[in-house]
This record gives sequence, C-alpha cells and structure tokens, in this order.
Amino acid sequence: MALIVQKYGGTSVGDLERIANVARRVAQRKNEGNDMVVVVSAMAGETDRLIDLAKKIAPIPNERELDTIMATGEQVTIGLLAITLEAMGYAAKSYCGWQIPILTDNAYGAARIAEVKADAIKADLSAGRIVIVAGFQGLSADGNVSTLGRGGSDTSAVAVAAALKADACEIFTDVDGVYTTDPNITSKARKIRKIAYEEMLEMAALGAKVLNIRSVEFAMRYGVPLFVRSSFNDNEGTLVTKESEDMEKEIIRAVTSSTKEAKITFTGVQDKPGVASQIFSAMADANVVLDMIIQNSSADGITDITFTIPEADLEKSLVICRGIAEKLGAATVTGSNDIAKVSIVGLGMRSYSGVAAKMFTALAAEGINIEMISTSEIKISCVIRKKYMELAVRVLHDAFELEKAAV
Ligand code: ADP
Ligand code: ASP
Ligand code: MG
Repeated sequence: MALIVQKYGGTSVGDLERIANVARRVAQRKNEGNDMVVVVSAMAGETDRLIDLAKKIAPIPNERELDTIMATGEQVTIGLLAITLEAMGYAAKSYCGWQIPILTDNAYGAARIAEVKADAIKADLSAGRIVIVAGFQGLSADGNVSTLGRGGSDTSAVAVAAALKADACEIFTDVDGVYTTDPNITSKARKIRKIAYEEMLEMAALGAKVLNIRSVEFAMRYGVPLFVRSSFNDNEGTLVTKESEDMEKEIIRAVTSSTKEAKITFTGVQDKPGVASQIFSAMADANVVLDMIIQNSSADGITDITFTIPEADLEKSLVICRGIAEKLGAATVTGSNDIAKVSIVGLGMRSYSGVAAKMFTALAAEGINIEMISTSEIKISCVIRKKYMELAVRVLHDAFELEKAAV
C-alpha cells in the first residue's frame, strides 16, 4: 500500500465525461489499496475566462480580488470530482486551499507556498476517504485567498506530496510524458524516460510548460519523485528524479521555446558608471524580473542597452523606462513583444565544446537572425523574431539529432 498524490490538469478535467474518466482512474488506484490524494486544475479555458471577465471591468484588476475570482475555477472541479466519486460509491472529500490550509505569502497572482498543514488530509486518509485538493490556490499570510501563478496546480501537487511524504507524485496531463521538445511543434519529438531535476528545471524555466518551474524546484528540494503521464492512456510516462548513471548520456536533452517575453531597448545612453544601475534598480523596485541584458561597448561614449522582461510587464516597464530615459538624456526607448526565445538544455553540455557554434550555425543556415544570446553551464538561449520560433525549434531538434535520442 502506498500514498499517492495525483494531479490532473485542465484538459483532463475539461468536461463531466473527462471528470468521470479521472474518477475511474483514481478509484482503480484506491481499489489496489493505495491512499489517494488528488489535486485538480480548473476546467480547460476557465482560468482565462475568469481573468477576461475581471479585465473587462479594469485592465489592471486589484490583485487580491483577481485571486478571489481566479480561485473559483478549481473550487468547481474539486466539488464535481468529489460528487462523481461519491456517486461511484467512494468516500471523498474536497478541500479549497484555505481549508487545508496551504499557507502562502502575500504575493497575489504569484504566491509562494510557505507550508502545507497536512493534519486534516491525514485524518481523512486514515478514515479511508479520497482527498481532493484545489490546485493553484492557498491562504495568504494576510488571511486572503491567493493563487500561485499560471500552471500552479503542479506546484500544489508537489507541495502536498512533500508535506505528506508521499511515495509518488503523478502529474497527469494531455501528453504522455516529457519530450525532447514540445510534441505539438514537431512529430519528431521523443519521449524522455528519465530526466534529472536540474534539466527539467531549466526546461521549465525556458518554456516547457508541461511542468511548472516551482513544482520542479519543490520536487528537487524535497526529493519527491515526479512522474508525468497522460490521463488518456496507460503509457509509461517520464520520471523526473536525481541525476543518475542509468540516464542516457545525451549532450543536449531538449529544445524549448517561449513567446512570453518582450524586450526594451534604450539607445543613445552615456557609457558611464551608474546608468545600468538606475535602469535596473527601477525595474527591481517595480518587481519586474529581467532575463537577458546586452550593452554594447562604445567608441564615442554613447551606447545602447537592451534587456528582456516578461511580456505581461511590458506596458508598465515602458512607462518607467520613459521616465528614466528623460533623466538620463537617452535618445530613445522602445519596446517590442515580437520576440521568441529558443533554448537548448542538457547536463552533457558541461563537458563538450562546440555546442554553441553548432546551434548558431543551424539557425544561420535557415536565415534566422539571433538578436540576443545567454548561456549557462547547462543551457544556451537565443532571442529571435517570433515568426521563426517553430522553425528554429525544428531546426535545432534536427541539428542535435534529438529524434534519435534513446526513448
Ligand atoms: P495541464 O493543463 O495538464 O497542466 P499544460 O498545457 O500546462 O497541461 O502542459 C502540457 C503541454 O505542455 C502539452 O500539451 C505540450 O504542448 C506542452 N509542452 C511543452 N514542452 C513540452 C515538452 N518538452 N514535453 C511535453 N510537453 C510539452
Ligand atoms: N488553472 C490554473 C491555470 O490555468 C492553474 C493550472 O492549471 O495549473 O493556470
Ligand atoms: Mg500545466
């Protein structure tokens, strides 16, 4: 007998038939003698619908109230799943984040989990009940409903699994595992059987939305074994775990892409101490997280600075930057969200040279211009024009022969 935490995403609970499918899968594992905790997302499209409603009233809605609205999506699905299981003859009980409680900080819309109080769940499991938990939400330090950021139900599941010291945390979604790239971009994508936390963390950070980045952070910190599987079949999925000898020795594990970023460029700024500090301190004060930064060296004391930020922060950042540009006497400030970031990720990169050259050559061969580059020990990212994103992913997947990677 094991304690299993399962999480089902929006597509998997998209309608009543799919909720019944989830209930049957949960019941099967319960019948095998396991203690079951199930974390669910809102029905597919529901969170977007709720955000749109709020934005019809105010373009930048009050963050506390927006969380109150967004959290209702998951409240519906936990109730529906509990009723479905009860109708099938199982004892089930649903919990909102605040009822458990899952305690978070006060960063509405991007709250971090501080603690999961697991006593109520444990008591229900001892009484033989299936426990159903609303993903994506918690109780803020101020006593309000909070949400964890888009895709946050994965994080709820891993946090609950860590608090319960569960034997496994299974993430059920609409693909049957983690692939060498988004299988919806190329049919050549291959399923990865076992992947290291570090690689999965980079992939999630660089746009592979199959797992939310904080869920991987949590799993890594608490050593929770994470399985990614499909809710529509019984295929073997992907295990995300500690780096080990039996993992395939690929130099590059995966290609990822993201269109969720934007860039801001200052032209004609003086090349002197304090300029970057003024710009980036203002961004930090506004809680804008920067990713890549490029500053050209100058011949005549005048230079340009370009940096990338989350696309959602572009408008507010431009307002701030225009103010700073005036103070600095910069020539222009422009913003654009016509960019995409493509990246290659792999622990094997640490001990090989020539990986970057191969990436740039492959992109150049297709006439794709690289606007910005950033590297770390285990990834290389390039910013390109948005329209080339899918082509770039396919070209890089081919160049590094990922379709031949062991499955
Ligand atoms: P859920 O609603 O179940 O949380 P998501 O839409 O958040 O599902 O995540 C699953 C999606 O992640 C897939 O449909 C796929 O398009 C996308 N994806 C991106 N990169 C990858 C990858 N490397 N492997 C698998 N899926 C990926
Ligand atoms: N429903 C939330 C979202 O759409 C959380 C999740 O699905 O993980 O982002
Ligand atoms: Mg998701």
